[in-house]
Amino acid sequence: MKMVLIGAPAAGKGTQAARLVKHYGIAHISTGDMLREEVAKGTELGNEAKSIMAVGGLVSDELIIAIVKERIKKDDCKKGFILDGFPRTVVQAEKLKEMVELDKVVYINAPDDVMLQRLTARQTCPKCGATYNKLFLPSKTEDICDVCGEKLTQRKDDTAEAGQKRLDTFHEQSEPLVGFYTKEGILFEVDGTQDIDEITKEIIKGLDA
Ligand code: ADP
Ligand code: ADP
Ligand code: ZN
Repeated sequence: MKMVLIGAPAAGKGTQAARLVKHYGIAHISTGDMLREEVAKGTELGNEAKSIMAVGGLVSDELIIAIVKERIKKDDCKKGFILDGFPRTVVQAEKLKEMVELDKVVYINAPDDVMLQRLTARQTCPKCGATYNKLFLPSKTEDICDVCGEKLTQRKDDTAEAGQKRLDTFHEQSEPLVGFYTKEGILFEVDGTQDIDEITKEIIKGLDA
């Protein structure tokens, strides 16, 4: 299973990917997570990406394509993978097409106001990567990770301002991917406003069809 999850910021890509990798036993490739790791480590690449990510822009196609190209060669991708957050531009999609043959592309769709509300309430665990939501999926103890006990943090770009900019960037640069993959005949869309479990069920049904 080689698949892509498309969706605006906070559509629920990471949440669904975590469930799908368990179900299918495949690798989860989140370009956002990979970039945040580089930023945290203070690498050259991280320093280059940091200021762009903070204001909700996209890092260069060249840079992100090089990262993905290396990542999908790794052993854990042999059984398949979920790309979460890549491609984000048609240029990236065209390059990806040269690298691998995809089975399916899932588009998680929801209106902007829903995504803005979700993203400003998002909390993540810096240690194990678990994702919570103050409004919709709170941790059992406030601000503490259920899985590992670490104090939860908020992403720097999960503010109303950077969030709105990221939504605009999505509409301008990433939404054309919906047409691109519809033409390829491998796109299916799910309603991202449903419950997390409902969405997972619908995606698995669509993927296994
Ligand atoms: P993305 O990876 O697309 O940016 P996430 O999976 O991180 O999105 O989800 C964004 C936020 O919304 C998180 O706080 C998550 O817990 C929450 N969330 C995800 N899916 C849903 C859903 N179907 N309903 C309500 N909240 C959700
Ligand atoms: P979200 O989960 O909210 O959709 P991500 O965690 O996927 O956001 O990405 C965070 C940031 O990392 C993006 O706003 C962008 O700056 C950068 N980024 C991630 N993936 C890509 C990509 N494929 N192309 C360009 N920039 C990317
Ligand atoms: Zn944790």
